[in-house]
Amino acid sequence: MSDVLIGVDLGGTNIKSAAVSRDGRVLGKDSRPTEAELGLEGVLKNIDASVRSVLEKAGIPFQDVIAAGVGAPGPMNWQTGVVFSPPNLPGWKDVPLADLLSQRWHVPCFVDNDANVACYGEFWLGAGREVDSMVLLTLGTGVGGGIVVMGQLLRGPDGTAGEIGHLCVSRGGRQCNCGAKGCLETYASVTGMVRTALEGIQQGENTILKEMCGGDYSGLTGKMISDAAAAGDEFALWVVQETGKWLGTAIGSLINLLNPEKVVLSGGMIAAGDLLFAPLRETALRQSFEVPGKRAMIVPAALDPDSGVIGAAGCALERLNKDS
Ligand SMILES: [Zn+2]
Repeated sequence: MSDVLIGVDLGGTNIKSAAVSRDGRVLGKDSRPTEAELGLEGVLKNIDASVRSVLEKAGIPFQDVIAAGVGAPGPMNWQTGVVFSPPNLPGWKDVPLADLLSQRWHVPCFVDNDANVACYGEFWLGAGREVDSMVLLTLGTGVGGGIVVMGQLLRGPDGTAGEIGHLCVSRGGRQCNCGAKGCLETYASVTGMVRTALEGIQQGENTILKEMCGGDYSGLTGKMISDAAAAGDEFALWVVQETGKWLGTAIGSLINLLNPEKVVLSGGMIAAGDLLFAPLRETALRQSFEVPGKRAMIVPAALDPDSGVIGAAGCALERLNKDS
C-alpha cells in the first residue's frame, strides 16, 4: 500500500488517528487520551504514538505516508498551521503544529479547524458524499459548523467562516461565551438544551428528570433529557422539541443563504432521532423558501464519531493536491 494519508482529530479529551488510502478506504484507527495536562510536549508525544500505532497495526511503513492532516480546536491560522491558544489545551500558545509534526514525520502536514475537517469528512466519505454543497452542525458542549460550497470548504480570508453556532437566533437572548447574545449554541447545544430544561424546572414543571438525576439538577445531562423524552415525559419531550425548533430556525436561514443539498447533524444529541428531527425539519421548512427547503435533506452524520479523523486525512489530500 503506497500513498497513505494520516488523519488526526485532536480534542481536549481524546486524540484519534486514522490511516486512509487516497481513494478513501480507512486502513486503521486509534484513539487514546490526549492528556492535555501534560502540556505541548506530552500531547505531541501522544499524537506521534497514536499515529505510529495505527501504521504498525495496519502494516504500513511510514515511507508510504504522503501527507498528514490534523483537525484541532481553534482559534488558529489554517494556512500556516499555527494554533493560537485553544481553551481546552492548556499551555498552548501560538504553537506551529503543522511545522512541528512535519519535522517529526518528514511529510507535509496541514492543520484545520476541527469542525471544518468533520464537515469535510462527511462531504468526502459520509452523508454528503454524493453532493457538492452541504452544511454540518456538530452538536456538543457548543455547536460547531462547517460549510462546503461547490466542493470546497468555505473558510473566508481569516479562516473563521462557518461559525454556525454563533448565528444569532434571538436578539438580546441568552448570553453566549463569545460575548454576544442569542447565539444558536446557547439554545441548541447540549449545554443549551440542559439550560432550557433547568429554566422550566425552576418554573415548577413536573418531570421525571428529578428522579433521574437523584434530585440534584447539577448532574442533569442531555442524555437524561432525551431518555426521559423517549420514555414519554411530557416536559422532557417539550425540551427536545424546543431544541429542535431552535436548530430548525437557524437551519432554515442557512438553507435560504446557501441552498445546500444536505444539512448534516452530528453529536450524541442526534440519538433522540425523530423526537428532535421532526420539529427541526418542520421549523426549517417553514423558515425557508419552498424550492431550497424541499431540496435540502436534513440528515444524521454517517461517519460520526470518525468524521473528524477521516476529514483531516481528506483535507490533507485536498491541500496536497492544491500545493502540487
Ligand atoms: Zn456566540
